[in-house]
Amino acid sequence: MTSSPKDFLHEFHWLMDVLHNIDVGLVVLDLHMHVKLWNGFMQNHSARSSAEVLDVCIFDLFPELPEAWFRRKLQAVTVLHNAAFTTWEQRPYLFRFKNYRPVTGAAEFMYQNCTMLPLTDATGEVNHICLIIYDVTEVAINRLQLQQANAQLRHISRTDGLTGLLNRKTWEQSLRLEFKRFQRYHHACSLIMLDIDHFKDINDSYGHTAGDEVIRRTAAILKEGLRESDVAGRYGGEEFVVILVDTDAAGAQVVAERLRTRIEASSVPYEQHIINFTVSLGIAELTPKISDPTMWIDTADRGLYNAKRAGRNQAIIYHT
Ligand code: GH3
Ligand code: MG
Ligand code: MG
Repeated sequence: MTSSPKDFLHEFHWLMDVLHNIDVGLVVLDLHMHVKLWNGFMQNHSARSSAEVLDVCIFDLFPELPEAWFRRKLQAVTVLHNAAFTTWEQRPYLFRFKNYRPVTGAAEFMYQNCTMLPLTDATGEVNHICLIIYDVTEVAINRLQLQQANAQLRHISRTDGLTGLLNRKTWEQSLRLEFKRFQRYHHACSLIMLDIDHFKDINDSYGHTAGDEVIRRTAAILKEGLRESDVAGRYGGEEFVVILVDTDAAGAQVVAERLRTRIEASSVPYEQHIINFTVSLGIAELTPKISDPTMWIDTADRGLYNAKRAGRNQAIIYHT
């Protein structure tokens, strides 16, 4: 069956209608980067009519286009006669269009995937390139929100809700890791165990909420007074632990003293009260005599016990 010129014209008009109204962006560029086709999607989202953009260089119209990268990409498409793709994960968008979709109102701009197709003319040469722009804002936002929720969950599962320090389970993982590292490299490494003095009295005198404030303040002083590489955790109710990498017992003693004096000097206002408090600290440097992570903790705990027995508000090293 052959089609008449009239049929052909009809089909041509249908095709043009489809191109114009389809819900993806279609752009044809010549090799000078001049726009040759600009469909309805592109007109609506860019607020530029075909008349405005036809035969104008795409980089003059959209200065935000990454020109060097874009030219390289199109060059490859032209030379290799192969399609190229970019996804929103590599580049959130090619054309910065505002996002108007109500469901994904969270996004400021439209996330886009883009396909670049070589268009062959009658002689088999590629003299034009077609860009197909897909609006993938919903997919992108869902994915980003999921990633964010996962990161939050991971954070919550690793940290202690009251203080924001590592929780005991996560901190103990770090402890095991440091212990293993010591067995391999024998670098100096110390542990501080810290316990608030007469904490029961604080709870009894001012109530649990006041006690919680004291715990939070202690954690804040730890965070402020430690280095990036130190690993602090909440070990129990009002007990804290810190791993000090590349630090021997004498160095740990200096850190412990600094924490102790800062805590002694601080005061927590609670209702009409000012709560002053102190802490005791036990220090254990890792040595070959310490055979496992539990023994390392027990050693620091002995130092802590001695500090309590010696009158509290002090830091004591327990030597193995
Ligand atoms: P010491 O100087 O010997 O350490 O005396 P202490 O009173 O501090 O004794 P201990 O360390 O045994 O006290 C722990 C108390 O901490 C017991 C418990 O009621 C309280 N506690 C544990 N967790 C929390 C918490 O999250 N918030 C509050 N407010 N109190 C807690
Ligand atoms: Mg305690
Ligand atoms: Mg205590």
